[in-house]
Amino acid sequence: MLTKGINYEQKGIIFNMQRFSIHDGPGIRTIVFLKGCPLKCDWCSNPESQDPVVEIMFNEKNCTGCKKCERNCPESAINMLRTGRIDRAKCTSCGVCAENCYPGGLVKSGEETTVEKVMTELKKETIQFRRSGGGVTLSGGELLMQPEFAIELLKACKAMGWHTAIETTGYASEDTIDKLIPLVDLVLLDIKHLDDEKHKKYVHVSNEVIVKNAKKISTIGTELIIRVPVIPKFNCDKNSISDIAKFAKSLNGVQRLDLLPYHKLGANKYENLGLDYTMGQEIKTPDEDTMNNFKKIVEEYGLECTIGG
Ligand code: SF4
Ligand code: SF4
Repeated sequence: MLTKGINYEQKGIIFNMQRFSIHDGPGIRTIVFLKGCPLKCDWCSNPESQDPVVEIMFNEKNCTGCKKCERNCPESAINMLRTGRIDRAKCTSCGVCAENCYPGGLVKSGEETTVEKVMTELKKETIQFRRSGGGVTLSGGELLMQPEFAIELLKACKAMGWHTAIETTGYASEDTIDKLIPLVDLVLLDIKHLDDEKHKKYVHVSNEVIVKNAKKISTIGTELIIRVPVIPKFNCDKNSISDIAKFAKSLNGVQRLDLLPYHKLGANKYENLGLDYTMGQEIKTPDEDTMNNFKKIVEEYGLECTIGG
């Protein structure tokens, strides 16, 4: 169904919808997680968000060894004796194995959907949004990797009168920024490092586009909050945090910077996807004193600062 100005049939791939969130924007919110990300941060806690396709995750702890998946896979991609179980070169992500694995040994990550289907779910929260002053936050992965879907979804949310926010790496074309940001009330923008060599080493892309887009977004007039994941060995030092705070302060209208301490919550998902967790298990969450010292540095630049967002 096409309603005036909004393409409700626009397709996209999402991997989660989280209701009743009180972070990531004002009021009570629903977060829609879009799949696919052009960055590959070594510490990413949602590795299932990175590939812009449907994927199958294998969790050995839940597997009862019934062999149903091995018998039913149309591509013969499953072998009970194989480490990680799935031959990912053969797997077409058809999802047959996961749909029939009731114990949860195999789980599908990602589903193709439409703006209309997502809106049907979001509309169930209309009263919550209205009462709390909340709304919808698009996150990822990187939502800007599916600009057509994100733009139509944001238009549909605005047509409902809801507050809209995005959590983004800022890694997108200028054209996408120009078209999408005016549909957003709040941008939560990650700045991870201003040293491009370090950025390339740990994030696996240059920060050039991100820095350029941060400056561009700050001129559009949308509320902008900078977020910094604080990662040991990468930016967990006074100079790195000070450089980012100084940059944030230079951006038009930025008043707040959130510091997000590193955690390992998603580490086990790497194995489930047949990937390596290159951060290493020995890396620890920065302690409270370290985070409070960084907070003071940020505040010295005249910015509000919260730890944990
Ligand atoms: S169908 Fe599920 S429980 Fe059965 S062997 Fe496969 S992964 Fe294990
Ligand atoms: S998703 Fe389909 S092709 Fe891939 S392992 Fe499962 S059943 Fe086989």
